[in-house]
Amino acid sequence: MSLPQQTTVLIVGAGPCGMAAALSLNHQGIHDIVIVDALFAGENSSRAMVIQAATLEALNNVDCLDGLLSVGNKVETLGLHDGSSYLLSTDFSLLSPYTKFPFALGIPQTYTEAGMLEKLDQLGIKKKEMFEVRFESGDIITAKYVIGADGAHSVVRDEAGIVFKDPNGDEKHDHGNLSQLALGDVAFTSPPQLATPNEGVSLTLSNGNFTLFARFPTNASPDKSRPTYRIVCSVPVADGTAPHAPSAEYLQSLLDRVGPPTLSSNLAVNPHPTRIDHVYWSSRYRTRSAVADRYFAPTPNGTGAVLLIGDAAHIHSPIGGQGMSLGIRDAISLGPVLKAHIVESSANNQLFEDWAASRRQRAVSVVALTKETMGIITAPQRVWSPIVAFGFTILRFLGRFTFVKRMVAYRLSGLAEI
Ligand SMILES: Cc1cc2nc3c(=O)[nH]c(=O)nc-3n(C[C@H](O)[C@H](O)[C@H](O)COP(=O)(O)OP(=O)(O)OC[C@H]3O[C@@H](n4cnc5c(N)ncnc54)[C@H](O)[C@@H]3O)c2cc1C
Repeated sequence: MSLPQQTTVLIVGAGPCGMAAALSLNHQGIHDIVIVDALFAGENSSRAMVIQAATLEALNNVDCLDGLLSVGNKVETLGLHDGSSYLLSTDFSLLSPYTKFPFALGIPQTYTEAGMLEKLDQLGIKKKEMFEVRFESGDIITAKYVIGADGAHSVVRDEAGIVFKDPNGDEKHDHGNLSQLALGDVAFTSPPQLATPNEGVSLTLSNGNFTLFARFPTNASPDKSRPTYRIVCSVPVADGTAPHAPSAEYLQSLLDRVGPPTLSSNLAVNPHPTRIDHVYWSSRYRTRSAVADRYFAPTPNGTGAVLLIGDAAHIHSPIGGQGMSLGIRDAISLGPVLKAHIVESSANNQLFEDWAASRRQRAVSVVALTKETMGIITAPQRVWSPIVAFGFTILRFLGRFTFVKRMVAYRLSGLAEI
C-alpha cells in the first residue's frame, strides 16, 4: 500500500495512544490523518490489564467505549495483602458520585487495541490510512503536525531533540527487587482457591517483593474452556536476570517463594495446592521512570508542530496500571487543541504550550505515585523490620475506613486530573 505524499496530521505509532489520537481527531472533524506503524496490526504484545475510570470517560467522549465494555470485566475491588491478611482494599464503586464508570475495566491491551482498530475501521480511517510501513523504504510524507506515539524508544522524540529523563534525577533506576518484573498469562492445574474470590485484582507484598494476580475476562481468555490469569512477580535481586520468556517452572518458582499462599504448589502452605501448567505469553520487564522535557516542539518554519503522547512522552513502573490510561488521555485531550490550532490557522503555539505543560505535570505526578507505591513495597529491603510491621499495622487500621478506600480509588482512577 502506498503512502500519500502529504497530510495535515501524521501519527507515528498505531499503539493504543496513536489510535486514540486518530479517534479524537476524527471526532473533532479532522480527517486528513495518516497513521503509520512499523509493525503489523495485532503484533503489539499483551501488557496493560486495566483501564482506569478517567480514561473510560475519555474513550466514551470519542464514542469508543461500548465495544471495550462488552469484552472487559468491571473490576470493583483491588486488594492489597501481606500474604496472610488484607492491608487495604480499594473500592472503585465508591467513585459513583464522580463518574459514570465507577470501576476499572479489566481488559488485556491486545483487546483494547483491537477494539480501537475496529472503531477506526468503522469510521473509514482504516486500511486506506493504516499503513504498515518501514520508513527505511525511502517514503517521505510532508505533514504539518507530527504526533509521536511511537512508544518508549520514540524516534520522533529523538529526532526532535527532546530529552527523556527521570523527573527526579534518579537515573540509576535501582528499585531493588522491583527493578525487574516477570509476567505471564497462564492457566493453573486447578483454579486457585482465593481467600477473596470476587477481588478483581490482588496485590500481595512479601518481604520486599510483590505479586499481582488478575483473572482474564472470559471473552478474552486464549482458551475459552478454562480460566486464564495474568501474574506479575517482582524478581528478587539475588535471582539475577530473568529469562526473556519465563517458563511455567520459572514463574511457579517465583510464586512459591514470593507469591500469596493461594498460588503456591506447596501443600505445607496451601491446602489446595495448584501449579502453572500452561503459559500463553510471558515476558520480563525492567522498571524505569522518564518524562520528556517537552511534549511540544514547533517545526522550523514555526507553523506546524511535533507533539508527544503516551509512552513516547512518559514511562514508569507498571505498578498501579497507569501508563496506557494516562497516554490515552494525552491523546484524546490533544484532539480539540489541535483542531483549535488548525482552525486559527495561526502560529498560536500557546495552545500547545498549555496542553503540553498540563499533560507533563500529570505524568510527573503519576511517576511520583508509582514511586511512592514502590517505596511501600520495598520498605522491608531498606527499613528495620519492626518499623515495617508497625507501618503495615497502621495501613491495616486506616484501610478499614471508607474515606481511605475512596481516596486511594480516586487517586488511581485519574479522575482528579481529567
Ligand atoms: C507489564 C506491564 C503492565 C502494564 N499494565 C498496564 C495497565 O494495567 N494499565 C495501563 O494503563 N498501562 C499499563 N502498562 C503500560 C502500557 O502498556 C503502555 O503505557 C502503553 O502500551 C503505551 O501505549 P503507546 O501507544 O504509547 O505505546 P506502544 O504500546 O509502545 O505503541 C507504540 C507503537 O509505535 C510503533 N512504533 C515504534 N517505533 C516506530 C517507528 N519508528 N515507526 C513507526 N512505528 C513505530 C510500535 O510498533 C507500536 O505499535 C503496562 C506496561 C507493562 C510493561
